[in-house]
Amino acid sequence: MQILDGKKASQAIRDDLKIEVAQRAAEGKKIPHLAAILVGTNGASETYVAAKVRACEEVGFKSTLLHFEESVSETRLLDKIQELNTDPDVDGILVQLPLPKHITDEQVINAIDPEKDVDGFHPVNVGKMVQGLDAFISATPHGIMLLLKHYKIDTRGKHAVVVGRSNIVGRPMSILLSSNNNPGNCTVTVCHSQTKDIKEYCLQADIIVAALGRPGFITADMVKEGVILIDVGITRVEDTGKKSGYKLKGDVDFETVGPKCSWITPVPGGVGPMTIAALMKNTFRSCKLRN
Ligand code: NAP
Repeated sequence: MQILDGKKASQAIRDDLKIEVAQRAAEGKKIPHLAAILVGTNGASETYVAAKVRACEEVGFKSTLLHFEESVSETRLLDKIQELNTDPDVDGILVQLPLPKHITDEQVINAIDPEKDVDGFHPVNVGKMVQGLDAFISATPHGIMLLLKHYKIDTRGKHAVVVGRSNIVGRPMSILLSSNNNPGNCTVTVCHSQTKDIKEYCLQADIIVAALGRPGFITADMVKEGVILIDVGITRVEDTGKKSGYKLKGDVDFETVGPKCSWITPVPGGVGPMTIAALMKNTFRSCKLRN
């Protein structure tokens, strides 16, 4: 079993970006600027946004965190996005999901200028990605592709099973893995909550991407020897032994599945840091394209 170390790979990407940003600054060029919108006081969301802002600081980007109260109206949020869309200093806009129930995620995402949509959720970017055109690719799937590339994993001709079909992880992941690219060129099966006998599909997989948000769902009896396992799941489960009162658990039962894998991502320290690296790369790209 070898570890696909997201912390290391993410650090390597951020180190490269840091050099490129310093170079831009030395040449008097514009520095990337990410604007992050957070609504409410969801602990996990606060942690994710804080990590994204920290990553911006580390690589030398400018960042603005706009934190709204849980009760903020959709109109106010849309007005703010419009303002950010037209602000020439802002290169990337991200809205941390989930949003409160009274706000429609789609309305908010669709309001972001696709050229500043560094999270890659806007239908224009999703459509371009599906067609294999240049696009901002959703940060988590993009991060996973960067991780596979970093470790030179040959995915060509492999059977990949993606468990989960959400718009932000499972679905784009299945498209990227089946694309005529490297990494890519897999034969892909997508499983979801209506799939009968997921185990049967997983047992045939050379690569499994587990993105369902059910801690420990993938167990040793569901995978074959030598499988490559990408664990996207992050769920906070109670742990009274921890100061925070919780620990993070992936969708894979790491202890029992790990020994059967050729490669596996840990949780934490696998896909999470790569999501941030991909977001930084997208923001840098936006800045370069727009300036
Ligand atoms: P989501 O929107 O809730 O989607 C979950 C998907 O899993 C759905 O397609 C659902 O099927 C499927 N599913 C749920 N229970 C299932 C079951 N028992 N068997 C088979 N399929 C099942 O979640 P998400 O946003 O994609 O996130 C998935 C996980 O990844 C979560 O733990 C989330 O915290 C984590 N995540 C991590 C990162 C990171 O940076 N590491 C980023 C994003 C998300 P249906 O479509 O049929 O409902």
